[in-house]
Amino acid sequence: MLKSHVRFYSATGKRLVLVADDEPVNRELLTYILQGDFDLLTASNGREVLQLVREHAERLSLVLLDLMMPELDGFRVLESMGAEGLLPRLPVIVITSEKAAEVRSLRLGASDFITKPFELPEVILARVQRTIELSEDRDILQGTERDSLTGLFNKEFFYRYAAQYDRVHDGKAMDAYVLDINHFHLVNEINGKAYGDLVLRRIAEQLRRVVAETGCMAARREGDRFMVYAPHGCLDGETLLAGVMQQLDDINSARIRIRMGIYPEADRSVSVEERFDRAKAASDSLRDNYTRFISIYDRSAYEQQMFAEQLIDEMDTALLHRQFEVWFQPKYDIRGESPRLTSAEALVRWRHPERGMISPGRFIPLFEKNGLIQKLDHYVWREAAAHCARWKAAYGVDIPVSVNVSRIDIFDPDLVPKLLKIVSDAGLTTDDLLLEITESAYAEDSGQIIQAVAALRERGFRIEMDDFGSGYSSLNMLAELPLDILKLDMRFVRALEKDGSGKALRMLELMTDIARFLQVPVIAEGVETKDQLDIMKRLGVDTVQGYYFSKPLPAEEFETLLSS
Ligand code: C2E
Ligand code: CA
Ligand code: CA
Repeated sequence: MLKSHVRFYSATGKRLVLVADDEPVNRELLTYILQGDFDLLTASNGREVLQLVREHAERLSLVLLDLMMPELDGFRVLESMGAEGLLPRLPVIVITSEKAAEVRSLRLGASDFITKPFELPEVILARVQRTIELSEDRDILQGTERDSLTGLFNKEFFYRYAAQYDRVHDGKAMDAYVLDINHFHLVNEINGKAYGDLVLRRIAEQLRRVVAETGCMAARREGDRFMVYAPHGCLDGETLLAGVMQQLDDINSARIRIRMGIYPEADRSVSVEERFDRAKAASDSLRDNYTRFISIYDRSAYEQQMFAEQLIDEMDTALLHRQFEVWFQPKYDIRGESPRLTSAEALVRWRHPERGMISPGRFIPLFEKNGLIQKLDHYVWREAAAHCARWKAAYGVDIPVSVNVSRIDIFDPDLVPKLLKIVSDAGLTTDDLLLEITESAYAEDSGQIIQAVAALRERGFRIEMDDFGSGYSSLNMLAELPLDILKLDMRFVRALEKDGSGKALRMLELMTDIARFLQVPVIAEGVETKDQLDIMKRLGVDTVQGYYFSKPLPAEEFETLLSS
Protein backbone atom coordinates (compact mmCIF):
# COMPACT_ATOMS: atom_id res chain seq x y z
CA MET A 1 0.00 0.00 0.00
CA LEU A 2 1.22 3.43 -0.78
CA LYS A 3 0.77 6.30 1.52
CA SER A 4 -1.98 8.48 0.17
CA HIS A 5 0.09 11.57 -0.38
CA VAL A 6 2.79 9.54 -2.09
CA ARG A 7 0.22 8.04 -4.36
CA PHE A 8 -0.95 11.53 -5.21
CA TYR A 9 2.37 13.13 -5.64
CA SER A 10 5.00 10.86 -6.99
CA ALA A 11 5.09 10.77 -10.75
CA THR A 12 7.72 8.00 -10.72
CA GLY A 13 5.90 5.94 -8.12
CA LYS A 14 8.99 6.15 -5.89
CA ARG A 15 8.89 7.55 -2.41
CA LEU A 16 10.85 10.66 -1.64
CA VAL A 17 13.63 10.58 0.96
CA LEU A 18 15.67 13.48 2.29
CA VAL A 19 19.33 12.80 3.03
CA ALA A 20 20.90 15.34 5.39
CA ASP A 21 24.59 15.25 6.23
CA ASP A 22 27.19 18.01 6.20
CA GLU A 23 29.95 15.75 4.91
CA PRO A 24 29.80 15.41 1.12
CA VAL A 25 31.27 11.90 1.26
CA ASN A 26 28.45 10.67 3.47
CA ARG A 27 25.80 12.30 1.26
CA GLU A 28 27.29 10.64 -1.79
CA LEU A 29 27.50 7.29 -0.11
CA LEU A 30 23.90 7.36 1.07
CA THR A 31 22.73 8.66 -2.30
CA TYR A 32 24.51 5.79 -3.97
CA ILE A 33 22.83 3.27 -1.66
CA LEU A 34 19.31 4.67 -1.95
CA GLN A 35 18.97 6.15 -5.41
CA GLY A 36 17.81 2.97 -7.11
CA ASP A 37 14.73 2.69 -4.88
CA PHE A 38 13.94 6.27 -3.91
CA ASP A 39 13.65 9.79 -5.19
CA LEU A 40 16.14 11.83 -3.19
CA LEU A 41 16.62 15.32 -1.84
CA THR A 42 19.82 16.32 -0.07
CA ALA A 43 20.71 18.92 2.53
CA SER A 44 23.98 19.91 4.15
CA ASN A 45 22.80 21.82 7.21
CA GLY A 46 19.89 21.92 9.65
CA ARG A 47 18.33 25.07 8.29
CA GLU A 48 18.18 23.58 4.83
CA VAL A 49 16.61 20.41 6.23
CA LEU A 50 13.78 22.34 7.83
CA GLN A 51 13.18 24.32 4.70
CA LEU A 52 13.00 21.21 2.52
CA VAL A 53 10.86 19.33 5.02
CA ARG A 54 8.31 22.13 5.13
CA GLU A 55 8.30 22.51 1.39
CA HIS A 56 7.88 18.81 0.67
CA ALA A 57 6.07 17.79 3.82
CA GLU A 58 3.36 15.89 2.03
CA ARG A 59 5.58 14.16 -0.48
CA LEU A 60 8.37 13.11 1.82
CA SER A 61 8.35 9.59 3.18
CA LEU A 62 11.46 9.74 5.34
CA VAL A 63 14.35 11.91 6.52
CA LEU A 64 17.85 10.59 7.13
CA LEU A 65 19.25 13.10 9.57
CA ASP A 66 22.85 13.58 10.65
CA LEU A 67 22.91 14.83 14.23
CA MET A 68 26.12 16.84 13.94
CA MET A 69 25.61 19.59 11.44
CA PRO A 70 26.44 23.30 11.27
CA GLU A 71 23.83 26.09 11.68
CA LEU A 72 21.18 23.88 13.33
CA ASP A 73 22.12 20.49 14.67
CA GLY A 74 19.92 17.43 14.28
CA PHE A 75 18.40 17.75 17.75
CA ARG A 76 17.18 21.22 17.00
CA VAL A 77 15.78 20.03 13.69
CA LEU A 78 13.88 17.25 15.46
CA GLU A 79 12.53 19.73 17.99
CA SER A 80 11.26 22.05 15.28
CA MET A 81 9.69 19.23 13.32
CA GLY A 82 7.96 18.02 16.46
CA ALA A 83 6.68 21.49 17.24
CA GLU A 84 5.33 21.89 13.71
CA GLY A 85 3.43 18.64 13.95
CA LEU A 86 5.48 16.92 11.28
CA LEU A 87 6.44 14.04 13.56
CA PRO A 88 5.75 11.15 13.72
CA ARG A 89 3.88 11.16 10.44
CA LEU A 90 7.15 11.85 8.67
CA PRO A 91 9.62 9.34 10.12
CA VAL A 92 13.21 10.41 10.82
CA ILE A 93 16.23 8.11 11.05
CA VAL A 94 19.14 9.79 12.77
CA ILE A 95 22.75 9.22 11.79
CA THR A 96 25.13 9.24 14.71
CA SER A 97 28.43 7.95 15.98
CA GLU A 98 27.61 8.50 19.64
CA LYS A 99 25.65 5.85 21.50
CA ALA A 100 24.47 8.48 24.00
CA ALA A 101 22.73 10.53 21.35
CA GLU A 102 20.42 7.70 20.38
CA VAL A 103 18.15 7.84 23.40
CA ARG A 104 17.88 11.58 23.26
CA SER A 105 16.95 11.56 19.58
CA LEU A 106 14.40 8.79 20.04
CA ARG A 107 12.82 10.87 22.79
CA LEU A 108 12.62 13.78 20.40
CA GLY A 109 10.60 11.65 18.03
CA ALA A 110 13.17 9.95 15.78
CA SER A 111 12.03 6.53 14.57
CA ASP A 112 15.36 4.75 14.34
CA PHE A 113 19.10 5.35 14.01
CA ILE A 114 22.01 4.40 11.81
CA THR A 115 25.50 4.45 13.24
CA LYS A 116 28.66 5.86 11.75
CA PRO A 117 30.79 4.49 10.29
CA PHE A 118 28.11 3.11 8.01
CA GLU A 119 27.07 -0.49 8.13
CA LEU A 120 26.59 -2.62 5.03
CA PRO A 121 24.58 -0.90 2.28
CA GLU A 122 21.90 -3.66 2.39
CA VAL A 123 21.36 -3.00 6.09
CA ILE A 124 20.88 0.70 5.57
CA LEU A 125 18.52 0.14 2.66
CA ALA A 126 16.51 -2.39 4.68
CA ARG A 127 16.21 -0.03 7.63
CA VAL A 128 14.99 2.80 5.48
CA GLN A 129 12.44 0.57 3.76
CA ARG A 130 11.29 -0.96 7.00
CA THR A 131 10.82 2.40 8.70
CA ILE A 132 8.78 3.72 5.82
CA GLU A 133 6.64 0.61 5.75
CA LEU A 134 6.01 0.80 9.47
CA SER A 135 4.98 4.42 9.24
CA GLU A 136 2.69 3.75 6.31
CA ASP A 137 1.13 0.78 8.06
CA ARG A 138 0.43 2.96 11.01
CA ASP A 139 -1.21 5.53 8.78
CA ILE A 140 -3.32 2.85 7.24
CA LEU A 141 -4.25 1.40 10.60
CA GLN A 142 -5.22 4.80 11.81
CA GLY A 143 -7.19 5.04 8.64
CA THR A 144 -8.09 8.60 9.38
CA GLU A 145 -6.55 10.26 6.41
CA ARG A 146 -8.54 8.86 3.62
CA ASP A 147 -12.06 8.32 2.53
CA SER A 148 -12.45 4.59 1.91
CA LEU A 149 -14.70 4.88 -1.11
CA THR A 150 -12.63 7.29 -3.16
CA GLY A 151 -9.16 7.10 -1.63
CA LEU A 152 -9.10 10.88 -1.41
CA PHE A 153 -8.25 12.67 1.80
CA ASN A 154 -11.11 13.05 4.18
CA LYS A 155 -12.24 16.45 5.27
CA GLU A 156 -10.51 16.64 8.66
CA PHE A 157 -7.17 15.57 7.34
CA PHE A 158 -7.48 17.77 4.31
CA TYR A 159 -8.13 20.86 6.43
CA ARG A 160 -5.11 20.13 8.59
CA TYR A 161 -3.05 19.44 5.56
CA ALA A 162 -4.14 22.62 3.79
CA ALA A 163 -3.37 24.66 6.89
CA GLN A 164 0.06 23.09 6.93
CA TYR A 165 0.52 23.90 3.28
CA ASP A 166 -0.27 27.53 4.07
CA ARG A 167 2.24 27.61 6.89
CA VAL A 168 4.92 26.23 4.68
CA HIS A 169 4.11 28.47 1.71
CA ASP A 170 3.80 31.67 3.58
CA GLY A 171 2.15 34.32 1.47
CA LYS A 172 1.30 32.20 -1.56
CA ALA A 173 -2.24 32.93 -2.76
CA MET A 174 -4.47 29.86 -2.90
CA ASP A 175 -7.75 29.06 -4.62
CA ALA A 176 -10.42 26.93 -2.96
CA TYR A 177 -12.77 24.86 -5.12
CA VAL A 178 -15.87 22.95 -4.11
CA LEU A 179 -17.56 20.55 -6.51
CA ASP A 180 -21.07 19.30 -5.91
CA ILE A 181 -23.27 16.90 -7.79
CA ASN A 182 -26.65 18.43 -8.42
CA HIS A 183 -29.45 16.53 -6.72
CA PHE A 184 -27.23 13.57 -5.94
CA HIS A 185 -29.81 12.04 -3.62
CA LEU A 186 -32.08 11.68 -6.64
CA VAL A 187 -29.28 10.09 -8.66
CA ASN A 188 -28.87 7.58 -5.84
CA GLU A 189 -32.56 6.97 -5.45
CA ILE A 190 -33.25 6.46 -9.11
CA ASN A 191 -30.11 4.59 -10.17
CA GLY A 192 -29.16 2.83 -6.97
CA LYS A 193 -26.31 3.27 -4.55
CA ALA A 194 -23.83 1.21 -6.54
CA TYR A 195 -24.19 3.59 -9.45
CA GLY A 196 -23.85 6.57 -7.11
CA ASP A 197 -20.64 5.10 -5.71
CA LEU A 198 -19.27 4.56 -9.19
CA VAL A 199 -19.91 8.21 -10.03
CA LEU A 200 -18.11 9.32 -6.87
CA ARG A 201 -15.14 7.09 -7.63
CA ARG A 202 -14.90 8.35 -11.19
CA ILE A 203 -14.84 11.93 -10.01
CA ALA A 204 -12.18 11.08 -7.44
CA GLU A 205 -10.07 9.36 -10.10
CA GLN A 206 -10.03 12.49 -12.19
CA LEU A 207 -9.20 14.65 -9.19
CA ARG A 208 -6.32 12.37 -8.31
CA ARG A 209 -5.02 12.74 -11.84
CA VAL A 210 -5.19 16.53 -11.55
CA VAL A 211 -3.41 16.34 -8.22
CA ALA A 212 -0.63 14.21 -9.69
CA GLU A 213 -0.21 16.59 -12.60
CA THR A 214 -0.30 19.87 -10.74
CA GLY A 215 0.60 19.19 -7.12
CA CYS A 216 -2.64 20.62 -5.78
CA MET A 217 -4.66 18.86 -3.06
CA ALA A 218 -8.04 17.18 -3.25
CA ALA A 219 -10.48 15.68 -0.79
CA ARG A 220 -13.97 14.35 -0.47
CA ARG A 221 -15.70 16.69 1.88
CA GLU A 222 -18.74 14.53 2.49
CA GLY A 223 -21.39 12.79 0.42
CA ASP A 224 -21.22 14.13 -3.08
CA ARG A 225 -19.02 17.09 -2.32
CA PHE A 226 -15.34 17.42 -3.25
CA MET A 227 -12.72 20.01 -2.44
CA VAL A 228 -9.61 21.10 -4.28
CA TYR A 229 -7.00 23.47 -2.93
CA ALA A 230 -4.47 24.85 -5.39
CA PRO A 231 -1.99 27.67 -5.72
CA HIS A 232 -3.68 30.64 -7.33
CA GLY A 233 -3.91 30.34 -11.08
CA CYS A 234 -2.57 26.78 -11.08
CA LEU A 235 -5.92 25.36 -12.19
CA ASP A 236 -8.56 26.67 -14.49
CA GLY A 237 -12.12 26.17 -13.25
CA GLU A 238 -13.62 25.40 -16.65
CA THR A 239 -10.94 22.85 -17.47
CA LEU A 240 -11.18 21.22 -14.08
CA LEU A 241 -14.93 20.84 -14.37
CA ALA A 242 -14.79 19.70 -17.97
CA GLY A 243 -12.23 17.04 -17.02
CA VAL A 244 -14.44 15.69 -14.28
CA MET A 245 -17.51 15.68 -16.50
CA GLN A 246 -15.59 13.86 -19.21
CA GLN A 247 -14.76 11.17 -16.71
CA LEU A 248 -18.47 10.47 -16.42
CA ASP A 249 -19.14 10.49 -20.15
CA ASP A 250 -19.63 6.78 -20.67
CA ILE A 251 -21.75 6.24 -17.56
CA ASN A 252 -23.73 9.43 -17.51
CA SER A 253 -27.08 8.09 -18.58
CA ALA A 254 -28.49 9.83 -15.53
CA ARG A 255 -27.42 13.21 -16.99
CA ILE A 256 -25.56 14.13 -13.88
CA ARG A 257 -24.60 17.75 -13.57
CA ILE A 258 -21.78 19.00 -11.41
CA ARG A 259 -21.61 22.52 -10.13
CA MET A 260 -18.51 24.25 -8.87
CA GLY A 261 -17.88 27.12 -6.48
CA ILE A 262 -14.54 28.88 -6.48
CA TYR A 263 -13.08 31.11 -3.82
CA PRO A 264 -10.02 32.56 -5.55
CA GLU A 265 -7.12 33.98 -3.54
CA ALA A 266 -8.80 32.86 -0.37
CA ASP A 267 -8.45 35.12 2.64
CA ARG A 268 -5.70 33.79 4.89
CA SER A 269 -7.11 35.45 7.96
CA VAL A 270 -10.05 33.03 8.12
CA SER A 271 -9.78 29.31 8.81
CA VAL A 272 -9.33 26.83 5.99
CA GLU A 273 -12.76 25.47 6.79
CA GLU A 274 -14.33 28.88 6.43
CA ARG A 275 -12.57 29.35 3.09
CA PHE A 276 -14.16 26.18 1.79
CA ASP A 277 -17.50 27.17 3.28
CA ARG A 278 -17.31 30.23 1.10
CA ALA A 279 -16.52 28.20 -1.99
CA LYS A 280 -19.43 25.97 -1.05
CA ALA A 281 -21.75 28.95 -0.69
CA ALA A 282 -20.80 29.97 -4.21
CA SER A 283 -21.54 26.46 -5.40
CA ASP A 284 -24.84 26.36 -3.51
CA SER A 285 -25.95 29.52 -5.23
CA LEU A 286 -26.10 27.47 -8.44
CA ARG A 287 -28.25 24.71 -7.02
CA ASP A 288 -31.32 25.54 -9.05
CA ASN A 289 -29.55 27.19 -11.91
CA TYR A 290 -29.67 25.13 -15.05
CA THR A 291 -27.57 27.34 -17.25
CA ARG A 292 -24.52 28.15 -15.15
CA PHE A 293 -22.20 25.60 -13.58
CA ILE A 294 -19.42 27.68 -12.10
CA SER A 295 -19.78 30.43 -9.57
CA ILE A 296 -17.14 32.63 -8.01
CA TYR A 297 -17.51 33.50 -4.35
CA ASP A 298 -18.93 36.95 -3.97
CA ARG A 299 -18.10 38.54 -0.69
CA SER A 300 -21.09 40.81 -0.37
CA ALA A 301 -23.57 38.10 -1.36
CA TYR A 302 -22.00 35.76 1.16
CA GLU A 303 -22.07 38.30 3.92
CA GLN A 304 -25.68 39.06 3.15
CA GLN A 305 -26.51 35.39 3.35
CA MET A 306 -24.66 35.04 6.67
CA PHE A 307 -26.44 38.10 7.97
CA ALA A 308 -29.79 36.66 6.95
CA GLU A 309 -29.08 33.33 8.59
CA GLN A 310 -28.03 35.05 11.77
CA LEU A 311 -31.19 37.12 11.92
CA ILE A 312 -33.27 33.99 11.47
CA ASP A 313 -31.35 32.26 14.26
CA GLU A 314 -31.78 35.17 16.60
CA MET A 315 -35.45 35.88 16.07
CA ASP A 316 -36.76 33.79 18.99
CA THR A 317 -34.35 35.31 21.47
CA ALA A 318 -35.19 38.75 20.15
CA LEU A 319 -38.88 38.16 20.75
CA LEU A 320 -38.17 36.90 24.23
CA HIS A 321 -36.05 39.92 25.10
CA ARG A 322 -38.48 42.33 23.54
CA GLN A 323 -36.00 43.62 21.00
CA PHE A 324 -38.84 44.20 18.55
CA GLU A 325 -40.46 47.58 18.89
CA VAL A 326 -43.69 48.69 17.36
CA TRP A 327 -43.57 52.20 15.91
CA PHE A 328 -46.46 54.20 14.61
CA GLN A 329 -46.82 56.38 11.56
CA PRO A 330 -49.79 58.73 11.64
CA LYS A 331 -52.33 58.91 8.84
CA TYR A 332 -54.04 62.21 8.13
CA ASP A 333 -57.47 62.85 6.73
CA ILE A 334 -56.88 65.60 4.15
CA ARG A 335 -60.44 66.23 2.99
CA GLY A 336 -61.24 69.14 5.28
CA GLU A 337 -59.66 72.56 5.65
CA SER A 338 -56.77 71.35 7.76
CA PRO A 339 -55.41 67.81 7.97
CA ARG A 340 -56.59 65.68 10.88
CA LEU A 341 -54.73 62.79 12.49
CA THR A 342 -57.23 59.97 12.28
CA SER A 343 -55.31 56.70 12.49
CA ALA A 344 -51.85 55.11 12.39
CA GLU A 345 -49.97 52.23 10.88
CA ALA A 346 -48.02 49.96 13.19
CA LEU A 347 -44.55 49.23 11.80
CA VAL A 348 -42.09 46.96 13.46
CA ARG A 349 -38.44 47.77 14.21
CA TRP A 350 -35.71 45.53 15.57
CA ARG A 351 -33.49 47.15 18.16
CA HIS A 352 -30.62 44.72 17.96
CA PRO A 353 -28.15 44.73 20.87
CA GLU A 354 -25.12 44.66 18.55
CA ARG A 355 -26.33 45.84 15.20
CA GLY A 356 -28.48 48.73 16.33
CA MET A 357 -31.78 49.47 14.66
CA ILE A 358 -32.69 47.14 11.82
CA SER A 359 -35.43 48.16 9.45
CA PRO A 360 -38.19 45.69 8.59
CA GLY A 361 -37.21 45.73 4.94
CA ARG A 362 -34.22 43.61 5.96
CA PHE A 363 -35.88 40.96 8.10
CA ILE A 364 -39.57 40.79 7.14
CA PRO A 365 -38.89 39.22 3.71
CA LEU A 366 -36.64 36.60 5.41
CA PHE A 367 -39.27 35.75 7.98
CA GLU A 368 -41.93 35.60 5.30
CA LYS A 369 -39.96 32.97 3.43
CA ASN A 370 -39.78 30.55 6.33
CA GLY A 371 -42.99 31.23 8.18
CA LEU A 372 -41.38 32.91 11.20
CA ILE A 373 -43.36 36.00 10.31
CA GLN A 374 -46.49 34.57 11.95
CA LYS A 375 -44.99 34.74 15.41
CA LEU A 376 -43.65 38.22 14.88
CA ASP A 377 -46.92 39.49 13.43
CA HIS A 378 -48.89 38.18 16.41
CA TYR A 379 -46.52 39.99 18.69
CA VAL A 380 -46.89 43.21 16.73
CA TRP A 381 -50.68 42.91 16.64
CA ARG A 382 -50.86 42.44 20.41
CA GLU A 383 -48.51 45.34 21.05
CA ALA A 384 -50.39 47.59 18.65
CA ALA A 385 -53.72 46.68 20.25
CA ALA A 386 -52.35 47.36 23.74
CA HIS A 387 -51.07 50.81 22.75
CA CYS A 388 -54.31 51.65 21.00
CA ALA A 389 -56.28 50.72 24.13
CA ARG A 390 -54.02 52.82 26.33
CA TRP A 391 -54.44 55.93 24.15
CA LYS A 392 -58.16 55.45 24.15
CA ALA A 393 -58.19 55.33 27.94
CA ALA A 394 -55.69 58.15 28.45
CA TYR A 395 -56.88 60.70 25.89
CA GLY A 396 -60.40 59.60 25.03
CA VAL A 397 -59.45 59.47 21.34
CA ASP A 398 -60.44 56.94 18.74
CA ILE A 399 -57.32 56.31 16.75
CA PRO A 400 -57.66 52.97 15.00
CA VAL A 401 -54.37 51.28 14.28
CA SER A 402 -53.70 49.29 11.16
CA VAL A 403 -51.40 46.30 11.28
CA ASN A 404 -49.73 44.41 8.47
CA VAL A 405 -51.00 40.91 7.77
CA SER A 406 -48.67 38.67 5.80
CA ARG A 407 -49.75 36.23 3.17
CA ILE A 408 -48.85 33.30 5.42
CA ASP A 409 -51.01 34.67 8.24
CA ILE A 410 -53.98 34.57 5.94
CA PHE A 411 -53.60 30.83 5.42
CA ASP A 412 -53.71 30.23 9.16
CA PRO A 413 -57.09 28.55 9.76
CA ASP A 414 -57.19 30.10 13.23
CA LEU A 415 -56.58 33.63 12.02
CA VAL A 416 -60.07 34.89 12.80
CA PRO A 417 -60.26 33.60 16.40
CA LYS A 418 -56.69 34.77 17.06
CA LEU A 419 -57.41 38.29 15.90
CA LEU A 420 -60.71 38.38 17.77
CA LYS A 421 -58.93 37.34 20.94
CA ILE A 422 -56.28 40.03 20.56
CA VAL A 423 -58.97 42.64 20.10
CA SER A 424 -61.07 41.50 23.05
CA ASP A 425 -58.07 40.96 25.35
CA ALA A 426 -57.16 44.60 24.80
CA GLY A 427 -60.74 45.71 25.42
CA LEU A 428 -61.13 46.90 21.83
CA THR A 429 -63.51 46.19 18.97
CA THR A 430 -62.82 45.23 15.38
CA ASP A 431 -63.23 48.93 14.51
CA ASP A 432 -59.98 49.68 16.29
CA LEU A 433 -57.71 47.25 14.47
CA LEU A 434 -57.48 47.58 10.70
CA LEU A 435 -55.77 44.93 8.63
CA GLU A 436 -53.38 45.79 5.80
CA ILE A 437 -52.98 43.04 3.25
CA THR A 438 -50.67 43.56 0.31
CA GLU A 439 -52.24 43.32 -3.11
CA SER A 440 -49.77 40.71 -4.32
CA ALA A 441 -51.10 38.30 -1.69
CA TYR A 442 -54.49 38.40 -3.37
CA ALA A 443 -53.06 37.87 -6.80
CA GLU A 444 -51.33 34.59 -5.99
CA ASP A 445 -53.91 32.28 -4.56
CA SER A 446 -56.91 34.41 -5.03
CA GLY A 447 -59.61 31.86 -4.30
CA GLN A 448 -58.45 30.88 -0.87
CA ILE A 449 -57.41 34.36 0.14
CA ILE A 450 -60.67 35.88 -0.94
CA GLN A 451 -62.47 33.36 1.26
CA ALA A 452 -60.26 34.04 4.28
CA VAL A 453 -60.56 37.79 3.86
CA ALA A 454 -64.29 37.53 3.47
CA ALA A 455 -64.41 35.63 6.78
CA LEU A 456 -62.48 38.43 8.48
CA ARG A 457 -64.86 41.05 7.13
CA GLU A 458 -67.86 39.04 8.26
CA ARG A 459 -66.55 39.27 11.80
CA GLY A 460 -66.28 43.03 11.48
CA PHE A 461 -62.65 43.64 10.50
CA ARG A 462 -61.91 46.25 7.88
CA ILE A 463 -59.34 45.45 5.21
CA GLU A 464 -56.93 47.90 3.61
CA MET A 465 -55.47 46.66 0.38
CA ASP A 466 -51.81 47.66 0.70
CA ASP A 467 -49.45 48.52 -2.16
CA PHE A 468 -52.31 48.74 -4.59
CA GLY A 469 -51.12 48.83 -8.20
CA SER A 470 -48.09 46.64 -7.59
CA GLY A 471 -49.70 43.21 -7.48
CA TYR A 472 -51.26 42.86 -10.93
CA SER A 473 -54.80 42.13 -9.87
CA SER A 474 -56.92 42.16 -12.96
CA LEU A 475 -59.61 44.78 -13.05
CA ASN A 476 -62.03 41.94 -13.38
CA MET A 477 -60.86 40.36 -10.17
CA LEU A 478 -60.70 43.67 -8.35
CA ALA A 479 -64.45 44.03 -8.52
CA GLU A 480 -64.79 40.74 -6.67
CA LEU A 481 -62.22 41.43 -3.98
CA PRO A 482 -63.43 41.94 -0.46
CA LEU A 483 -61.80 45.17 0.71
CA ASP A 484 -62.67 48.39 2.49
CA ILE A 485 -59.84 50.79 1.73
CA LEU A 486 -57.34 51.09 -1.12
CA LYS A 487 -53.83 52.09 -0.21
CA LEU A 488 -51.88 53.20 -3.27
CA ASP A 489 -48.46 51.78 -3.82
CA MET A 490 -45.83 54.29 -2.84
CA ARG A 491 -44.11 53.99 -6.19
CA PHE A 492 -46.84 56.01 -7.90
CA VAL A 493 -46.21 58.95 -5.61
CA ARG A 494 -42.43 58.49 -6.03
CA ALA A 495 -42.85 58.53 -9.80
CA LEU A 496 -44.32 62.04 -9.62
CA GLU A 497 -40.88 63.41 -8.83
CA LYS A 498 -39.51 62.71 -12.29
CA ASP A 499 -42.74 62.91 -14.15
CA GLY A 500 -41.87 64.81 -17.31
CA SER A 501 -44.72 63.52 -19.45
CA GLY A 502 -47.43 63.51 -16.82
CA LYS A 503 -47.74 59.76 -17.04
CA ALA A 504 -47.39 59.21 -13.29
CA LEU A 505 -50.10 61.73 -12.66
CA ARG A 506 -52.44 60.00 -15.11
CA MET A 507 -51.71 56.65 -13.41
CA LEU A 508 -52.71 58.15 -10.08
CA GLU A 509 -55.89 59.50 -11.62
CA LEU A 510 -56.65 56.04 -12.90
CA MET A 511 -56.10 54.49 -9.48
CA THR A 512 -58.34 56.97 -7.75
CA ASP A 513 -60.97 56.39 -10.42
CA ILE A 514 -60.86 52.68 -9.65
CA ALA A 515 -61.34 53.42 -5.96
CA ARG A 516 -64.34 55.59 -6.74
CA PHE A 517 -65.74 52.85 -8.92
CA LEU A 518 -65.32 50.39 -6.06
CA GLN A 519 -66.73 53.01 -3.71
CA VAL A 520 -63.90 52.73 -1.22
CA PRO A 521 -61.71 55.46 0.32
CA VAL A 522 -58.11 55.93 -0.87
CA ILE A 523 -54.94 56.30 1.16
CA ALA A 524 -51.79 57.66 -0.45
CA GLU A 525 -48.58 56.53 1.16
CA GLY A 526 -45.10 58.06 0.85
CA VAL A 527 -46.18 61.69 0.49
CA GLU A 528 -43.12 63.74 1.29
CA THR A 529 -43.75 67.26 -0.05
CA LYS A 530 -46.35 69.97 -0.05
CA ASP A 531 -46.63 69.65 -3.84
CA GLN A 532 -47.42 65.99 -3.57
CA LEU A 533 -49.96 66.68 -0.86
CA ASP A 534 -51.70 69.23 -3.07
CA ILE A 535 -51.83 66.75 -5.93
CA MET A 536 -53.42 64.17 -3.60
CA LYS A 537 -56.00 66.68 -2.55
CA ARG A 538 -56.84 67.50 -6.17
CA LEU A 539 -57.15 63.80 -6.97
CA GLY A 540 -59.65 63.35 -4.16
CA VAL A 541 -57.43 61.13 -2.03
CA ASP A 542 -58.99 60.79 1.42
CA THR A 543 -56.04 60.01 3.64
CA VAL A 544 -52.29 60.64 3.45
CA GLN A 545 -49.46 58.87 5.21
CA GLY A 546 -45.89 60.02 4.66
CA TYR A 547 -42.83 61.91 5.75
CA TYR A 548 -44.50 65.21 4.90
CA PHE A 549 -46.57 64.77 8.04
CA SER A 550 -44.41 62.42 10.01
CA LYS A 551 -42.04 59.50 9.85
CA PRO A 552 -42.93 56.39 11.85
CA LEU A 553 -42.45 57.26 15.54
CA PRO A 554 -41.68 55.27 18.67
CA ALA A 555 -44.86 54.72 20.70
CA GLU A 556 -43.99 57.43 23.27
CA GLU A 557 -43.36 60.06 20.61
CA PHE A 558 -46.54 59.14 18.83
CA GLU A 559 -48.33 59.54 22.12
CA THR A 560 -46.87 63.02 22.54
CA LEU A 561 -48.18 63.88 19.10
CA LEU A 562 -51.62 62.57 20.09
CA SER A 563 -51.78 64.47 23.34
CA SER A 564 -51.00 67.78 21.64
P1 C2E B 1 -45.45 48.98 4.03
O1 C2E B 1 -46.51 48.23 4.78
O2 C2E B 1 -45.77 49.40 2.64
O3 C2E B 1 -45.08 50.19 4.96
C1 C2E B 1 -44.77 51.48 4.51
C2 C2E B 1 -43.31 51.75 4.49
O4 C2E B 1 -43.08 53.00 3.86
C3 C2E B 1 -42.70 51.87 5.89
O5 C2E B 1 -41.38 51.38 5.83
C4 C2E B 1 -42.67 53.38 6.09
O6 C2E B 1 -41.68 53.80 7.01
C5 C2E B 1 -42.34 53.85 4.71
N1 C2E B 1 -42.77 55.23 4.46
C6 C2E B 1 -43.83 55.85 4.99
N2 C2E B 1 -43.91 57.11 4.53
C7 C2E B 1 -42.86 57.29 3.70
C8 C2E B 1 -42.39 58.42 2.91
O7 C2E B 1 -42.95 59.49 2.88
N3 C2E B 1 -41.27 58.22 2.16
C9 C2E B 1 -40.62 57.04 2.17
N4 C2E B 1 -39.52 56.93 1.42
N5 C2E B 1 -41.03 55.98 2.90
C10 C2E B 1 -42.13 56.10 3.65
P2 C2E B 1 -40.88 50.37 6.88
O8 C2E B 1 -41.38 50.73 8.22
O9 C2E B 1 -39.42 50.27 6.66
O10 C2E B 1 -41.59 49.03 6.46
C11 C2E B 1 -41.28 48.37 5.29
C12 C2E B 1 -42.19 47.23 5.04
O11 C2E B 1 -42.00 46.21 6.02
C13 C2E B 1 -43.65 47.55 5.16
O12 C2E B 1 -44.09 48.13 3.99
C14 C2E B 1 -44.26 46.20 5.40
O13 C2E B 1 -44.40 45.50 4.20
C15 C2E B 1 -43.20 45.52 6.22
N6 C2E B 1 -43.58 45.58 7.64
C16 C2E B 1 -43.31 46.53 8.56
N7 C2E B 1 -43.80 46.15 9.78
C17 C2E B 1 -44.40 44.95 9.61
C18 C2E B 1 -45.08 44.04 10.48
O14 C2E B 1 -45.28 44.25 11.68
N8 C2E B 1 -45.55 42.87 9.93
C19 C2E B 1 -45.40 42.60 8.60
N9 C2E B 1 -45.87 41.48 8.14
N10 C2E B 1 -44.76 43.43 7.77
C20 C2E B 1 -44.26 44.59 8.26
CA1 CA C 1 -48.50 48.41 5.26
CA1 CA D 1 -47.54 49.94 1.56
